[in-house]
Amino acid sequence: MDCARYFDNAASTPVDDRVVEAMVPWLGSCFGNPSSIHSWGRQAADAVENARRQVAALLGVNPEEIIFTAGATEGNNWIARLHQNWAASPFEHASMNACACSLDGQILPCDGWNLLPPEHEVDLVSVIAVNSETGAIPSLPDTRAKVHRDITQACGKIPYSVEGIDYATFSAHKFHGPKGIGGLYVQGGDKLDPMLYGGLHEGGQRAGTLNVAGIVGMGRAAELCMEHMGEGELKARELRGIVLEQLHGLTDWGIHEHSAQSPFVLSIGFAGLLGEILLVELDARGFAVSSGSACSSKGGGPTRVLAAAGCQEELIPGTIRVSFGRRNTEESAAALGKAIHDIVSALRGLKTGAPAAQST
Ligand code: PMP
Repeated sequence: MDCARYFDNAASTPVDDRVVEAMVPWLGSCFGNPSSIHSWGRQAADAVENARRQVAALLGVNPEEIIFTAGATEGNNWIARLHQNWAASPFEHASMNACACSLDGQILPCDGWNLLPPEHEVDLVSVIAVNSETGAIPSLPDTRAKVHRDITQACGKIPYSVEGIDYATFSAHKFHGPKGIGGLYVQGGDKLDPMLYGGLHEGGQRAGTLNVAGIVGMGRAAELCMEHMGEGELKARELRGIVLEQLHGLTDWGIHEHSAQSPFVLSIGFAGLLGEILLVELDARGFAVSSGSACSSKGGGPTRVLAAAGCQEELIPGTIRVSFGRRNTEESAAALGKAIHDIVSALRGLKTGAPAAQST
């Protein structure tokens, strides 16, 4: 499969070869348990602490403020479970939205993408840094509560400061690292009630033998992101423009976007069509896109986030998400845009009985 045609980088990114290279010894000869006192253990512990420094450097924080987790889902659940009286934005990923539904979190009111203060006083507000379905960057509502931000779609992609934020959660596989590893930033390194009870790993806050290879991979991925940051953002902006250029001539479509927007995600809706059909047609031509966040893809129907943000209703069912990454090229972006144009024209032609456009 051609990675240049993979436009679903908000779901997961290809693991960078240099990350794989850094991980390999920790899947083989370097097998020590980082909690062991002997030299095998100390070697692994050193690698873990080196990775903690690399991740902390990406976020511009102290290494003591980073706890390793299995990913953003775990971090989001952890933060939600620590609070009784809290509110989440309606734009959160499923892993936070489901917590709000199951653990008595309020949903913040909003006007479009603009969040309004919570209806009742809360201890914590959780607001995603970059929405995974459209790339919108919602700003914080006026509040004196503690703040959690799910920075999964921002981390390693756009320069993002966690200054003034109490908690932040992220996953390595969204920034060219491995899956099943992520982190939680806790301002000031304050001790949290444990997520998992057991041994004294991660300062006694998260028991369980550390995923050394994953942690090393995430550290290396974080280091590489610091090198790629500016150019990655510029490239995403350019590729976004190239895809959109190819859509000229189509009618009844629109972009779901906010005035503050990550260039890495492009959410486009086509009236009268279904995102899933567009996705399957694009897949048949070798392109990967999605019809919403991968974690809500089994739910079907208009997405909760687009509806909450007041996106044009008639465009919601026919929405696809194109998300950019390091391996995409100008050529593949132009080819994707052309394929979308051809497929939309052909499907609409079929509906109206007009001859279907030829697609290549
Ligand atoms: N938050 C956001 C914004 C995400 O995009 C994702 C992954 N789709 C998650 C949380 C969950 O990440 P993971 O599945 O790696 O735990």
